[in-house]
Amino acid sequence: KNIGAELLKVDSVLMQFGGLKALNNVSLSIKRGTIHGLIGPNGSGKSTMMNVLTGIYIPTAGNVLYAGKSVVGSTSSNIALSGIARTFQNVQLFGEMTALQNIMVGLHHTFKSNLIEIGLHLPAYLKEEREARKRGMALLKFVGLEELANEEARNLPYGKQRLLEIARALALDPELLLLDEPAAGLTAPDIKELLRIIRKIRDSGVTFILIEHHMDVVMSLCDTVSVLDFGQKIAEGKPAEVQADEKVIHAYLGA
Ligand code: ADP
Ligand code: MG
Repeated sequence: KNIGAELLKVDSVLMQFGGLKALNNVSLSIKRGTIHGLIGPNGSGKSTMMNVLTGIYIPTAGNVLYAGKSVVGSTSSNIALSGIARTFQNVQLFGEMTALQNIMVGLHHTFKSNLIEIGLHLPAYLKEEREARKRGMALLKFVGLEELANEEARNLPYGKQRLLEIARALALDPELLLLDEPAAGLTAPDIKELLRIIRKIRDSGVTFILIEHHMDVVMSLCDTVSVLDFGQKIAEGKPAEVQADEKVIHAYLGA
């Protein structure tokens, strides 16, 4: 559906924390059906950008247009419901809940009936609960975790926890998926599996913004890459172009 058209437009965003400009006049254009890399040294503003895009921070200035409409000032949950999902730099699962329950938590937001109306709508609620369970199991299967559905999240190996977070992000059927360093701390086989799953999601029509430090992951997945340094965009282009860019090399060497 409309591959190549602009899905997300970040227009001259400034995010100021006191005297610090964590994002300084950054603009981005994310095209439908693509994987857009966001890279840069530690502290360059990558996670801050994710937080602006998902309504956790309200930018000091500038605008974010998703499918042509501004999301600035919308709540995180409304932004999620409108189709932007994310994972966090640090795993944020409910450790004592099972893998399946972690996914179903996200799905409850989409229920039409709720427990407060239980007296009136119990059958409707139970039907939605059943469907959520089915959908949750399908998502676990999609990321290869169906056998672990009833394991507590905290007992899953780290690589599987990261996949569970991605499955949970998919629960709301997003158009845009933001991944904040999904390969951090993973073993080589885990990374291979992660790449396979990201490609599978991309092939189903989802657009990505991918923050990643592993350059081989960026090189093999991304269509376009933007580079941040001290809150400013210093380069943008195809992965190979960006990797060869002197400003980028300079930023990473920290000279
Ligand atoms: P990255 O993800 O690229 O490593 P971040 O976006 O996390 O970088 O941080 C960019 C800068 O903004 C850092 O200097 C960080 O300390 C600062 N920063 C991020 N969030 C806040 C906040 N809530 N309050 C104050 N400073 C923040
Ligand atoms: Mg970060």
